[in-house]
Amino acid sequence: MNGIIAPRLVGMDPTRQEEIDRLMIDLDGTPNKGKLGANAILGVSMAIARAASEALGLPLYEYIGGPEAARLPVPMMNILNGGKHADNSVDLQEFMVMPIGAPTFAEALRYGTETFHALKKILSDRGYATSVGDEGGFAPDLKSNDEACEVIVEAIEAAGYSPGRDVAIALDPAASSFFQNGSYVLSKSGQGSLTSRQMTALYREWVEKYHVVSIEDGLHENDWEGFREQTAELGDRVQIVGDDLFVTNSRFVERGIRERAANAVLIKLNQIGTVSETIETITMCRNAGWGYVISHRSGETEDTFIADFAVAMGGGQIKTGSACRSERIAKYNRLLEIEAELEGRAVFENPFKDR
Ligand code: PGA
Ligand code: ZN
Repeated sequence: MNGIIAPRLVGMDPTRQEEIDRLMIDLDGTPNKGKLGANAILGVSMAIARAASEALGLPLYEYIGGPEAARLPVPMMNILNGGKHADNSVDLQEFMVMPIGAPTFAEALRYGTETFHALKKILSDRGYATSVGDEGGFAPDLKSNDEACEVIVEAIEAAGYSPGRDVAIALDPAASSFFQNGSYVLSKSGQGSLTSRQMTALYREWVEKYHVVSIEDGLHENDWEGFREQTAELGDRVQIVGDDLFVTNSRFVERGIRERAANAVLIKLNQIGTVSETIETITMCRNAGWGYVISHRSGETEDTFIADFAVAMGGGQIKTGSACRSERIAKYNRLLEIEAELEGRAVFENPFKDR
């Protein structure tokens, strides 16, 4: 940043985001930002946006999203972990709650937080560990994927909410992590080796039993055919999100739209590496009528850029961890601030209300 990027940018107008991002991409010169690194480039790209918003005296969400930006996102809160994120008998990586029935963002955060604490009590009453992982979710030594869904449904009810109506479940199986030699190997839970068709059948069961409204990376990142089948089979009732499948890259998203391989994209700024390219991918989603979920990473700082960015982009969904760990809470606190600042203008809606 200091040696190569800064000397080229000093003196430029920070409102020229696209030009500056393009200049850094050219300065790097590789197709995947392999020379300067996405971390260096993205850090500058986000700082430029922030500098411009400060110079204009606008909140960041308004600077990026314009005066209409007023939609607060429904949080996907990762409250239970398995897969590579945990040492237990759960194959799927993330079990999240989505407070889709809440009237405001602040209430949604309360619904999710109360569910998180109800879950803690249920786990501890059963003698399970309640320490948390990177994203703030529990990683108890549960016996199966089903048990993970069951305790969450129980927690939603124990917190006084109606599963599916007030609070629904979103899954991120991260299926690339349990794909071996052409099969989905559910070795942790002992559910055997499945084909992609059988995986989709299993998801269908879970959708019906456990109020699942969104499935991210339900299949391996190269299983495009499986994704097409899954979307044809479940896409009218469930959000099918590509994370590893698309890596926020508009080239892959374009293919996904053409092939109907999903109906939503997980958006991680540092997968693609600049603010402008991230907005380009989101614009593509919007034009296709696809969903998009602004996301944190498992490694995070207290930076709150993605909170403002989620409001600016108006997609109505953010994935930023459970209701603990300060680097996750920082984003939620910023969203509370934004909602308060927007006063009567803030919009909060169930992104799946038409399903
Ligand atoms: P990570 O994200 O790649 O930051 O670990 C987890 C996920 O969404 O799959
Ligand atoms: Zn993911």
